[in-house]
Amino acid sequence: MSDASPSQRRLVENEQIMESLNRRLGERVGEIRGETGVSASEPVRFFCECSDLECRGRVALTRERFEEIHRDPALFVLLPGHENASIEIVVDTWGDHVVVRKTVTV
Ligand SMILES: [Zn+2]
Repeated sequence: MSDASPSQRRLVENEQIMESLNRRLGERVGEIRGETGVSASEPVRFFCECSDLECRGRVALTRERFEEIHRDPALFVLLPGHENASIEIVVDTWGDHVVVRKTVTV
């Protein structure tokens, strides 16, 4: 990993903003499901965690899978094609989402 330039840092920070939004979304969905009896294993439509804050894409994955990915702070989940080669590389491809690893440190 190399140190991020100011523009790379901004891109990574955008992804971190989307990740924290997704964390709150996951928790909220978990609460609602607890109240309504919907299975916790149903996929949640998380926001795409790409570096474009205007992106309104959604990726469907279970909360368990989401937590598993984010146990590593360098990993983010995006729609295929939304990765930005200047800050990350695709490390895993699933049905409708890809997992990327940051190649810069912020
Ligand atoms: Zn996106």
